Amino acid sequence: MVEAGNLQTLKGWISSSSRVAILTHSNPDGDAIGSSLALALALSGRGIDAQVVIPDGLPDFLRWLPGIERSTTFAYKREKAVEIIEGADLIFCLDFNDPKRLGAVEEYLVKSTARKVLIDHHQDPRQFTDMAISETWRGSVGEMIYLLMKELFKEQVLNREIATCLYVAIMTDTGNFSYASSYPEIFHIVGDLMKYDLDKDMIFSRVYYAFTEDRLRLQGYCMQEKMVVLPEYFTAYISLTDEELKNFNHRKGDTEGFVNIPFAIKGIKFTALFVEKKDRIKVSFRSRGSFPVNQIAADHYQGGGHINAAGGDSFASMDDTLSTFESLLSRYAKMLQDG
Ligand code: 5GP
Ligand code: MN
Repeated sequence: MVEAGNLQTLKGWISSSSRVAILTHSNPDGDAIGSSLALALALSGRGIDAQVVIPDGLPDFLRWLPGIERSTTFAYKREKAVEIIEGADLIFCLDFNDPKRLGAVEEYLVKSTARKVLIDHHQDPRQFTDMAISETWRGSVGEMIYLLMKELFKEQVLNREIATCLYVAIMTDTGNFSYASSYPEIFHIVGDLMKYDLDKDMIFSRVYYAFTEDRLRLQGYCMQEKMVVLPEYFTAYISLTDEELKNFNHRKGDTEGFVNIPFAIKGIKFTALFVEKKDRIKVSFRSRGSFPVNQIAADHYQGGGHINAAGGDSFASMDDTLSTFESLLSRYAKMLQDG
């Protein structure tokens, strides 16, 4: 995965580092946390002090992961997080293509004089590190960490804890192998992980069957009251205001996955989720097939992402955001028809 020259350089950087920081993006998902912890565990198993810094909230369904004690959340433990970044002589940036995705942590990355390495699978990575390992066709950074570990440390590196973190990364970023995973290598990787006594059914339950009653009822409310289906555009979207979220005692991460649910309707190719935040409306897009949602996110929502999963922000009211979105669709009608 890594070209020979870069691999040698990276080996040198790792062996000459005493403290390593691993940074991942705001609002972290299973890939962000799983791949970061796997790398931290692998490095610490080789006597290197490796710590993960998360900009903000770690979702509950990931709190049980092995190695979680090696992570620090900047929003809650700012001093410790800053100390980890400032004390590092090597910084890995995992699962994001733009330092802006670090939120308030960005300025500490920029200030640091440590060597910086990007490992990412998002389109069009910005250049902000000394080395960039970018493979945009891969379903997850988890896979990339697996391959990198094998190349760096050969056979002895994996164990049950690391395999569990990597499996969570790969499973979540491919929607339990329902997208971004149609190539043989990913299953060879998972096959290898299974050799480490991986309890994949337990992992599935801990990640996907970990909701509160409120969250499931919020999902029911979305389906019944808030989902708008536009068959002429092969599109369905859901919106949630702050007040609606409060009615269901909303907790961080509760809306995770809602954007995918309308794909269960036959013929839907494009889905959107609009969630009201303090100062903006967070927009999430998903597609099936060739419709490039990252283009809509970049052109109209100051965002970006992958062809089939992207996001951005709207700074208009919810009503205006939704009517603008609906009026945009006619421009993409042909692409949606063909996609
Ligand atoms: P989600 O909808 O789960 O928040 O994000 C899906 C994907 O869209 C992310 O993995 C990321 O690639 C991209 N994304 C989401 N929000 C933003 C954003 O505000 N800016 C950019 N550039 N990409 C985003
Ligand atoms: Mn990812």
